[in-house]
Amino acid sequence: MSIKDNLKTIKESLTPHVTLVAVSKTKPIADIEEAYAAGQRVFGENKIQEMTEKQEVLPKDIEWHMIGHIQRNKVKYMAEYVALIHGVDSLKLLKEINKQAKKHNRVIPCLLQIHIAEEDTKFGFDENDLNELIASSDLEQLTNIKIVGLMGMATFTDNSQQIRKEFKRLKDLFEKTKLAFPDLSQLSMGMSGDYKIAIEEGSTMIRVGSSIFGSRN
Ligand SMILES: *Cc1c(COP(=O)(O)O)cnc(C)c1O
Repeated sequence: MSIKDNLKTIKESLTPHVTLVAVSKTKPIADIEEAYAAGQRVFGENKIQEMTEKQEVLPKDIEWHMIGHIQRNKVKYMAEYVALIHGVDSLKLLKEINKQAKKHNRVIPCLLQIHIAEEDTKFGFDENDLNELIASSDLEQLTNIKIVGLMGMATFTDNSQQIRKEFKRLKDLFEKTKLAFPDLSQLSMGMSGDYKIAIEEGSTMIRVGSSIFGSRN
């Protein structure tokens, strides 16, 4: 199947309020151009340098989402153009994003990454850290960032019950967090292997790579 056909198949299975982020990490410019020609405008990358190299040569109406783990010293390279940062996992990082956004006179939308998986290799806030952050008076001073939602990755497993349970937990936390942040509207959860479950559990944004572009090396 072609990239175009893959996109079509996935889009047909989505409910209207779910945004498809096409994860193009490691894939060549030509693949992104093919998806673009098929109407896709939202792309996700997990390395700032790679994303910036692609952003420089591709059409300017593409929305670039940073979905990977972020090193603070690299935020400056994407601050001018990044449309949404999914993986924010510390107040320190939020402060750096705020500082760099200010230089470009922008407000950068951010998602807080929540640790929901069993593996401890996956980054993110736990519920206590999240509550602490929400209560922190530091947040009010960060006028060049906007927290618009939460993001999480389920455990890498074939056990769909477990995946569902983890997504349910994230959705619960999302609803609770909304009480403190009424602007919260995005719940980024679901990848190629689990996006159908994620949508059933309330995802508003899925990050799909291999099911569109084929497997990565
Ligand atoms: C690579 C990646 C994806 C996409 O994974 P696929 O299984 O190829 O769909 C989604 N989210 C994050 C954070 C990723 O790093």
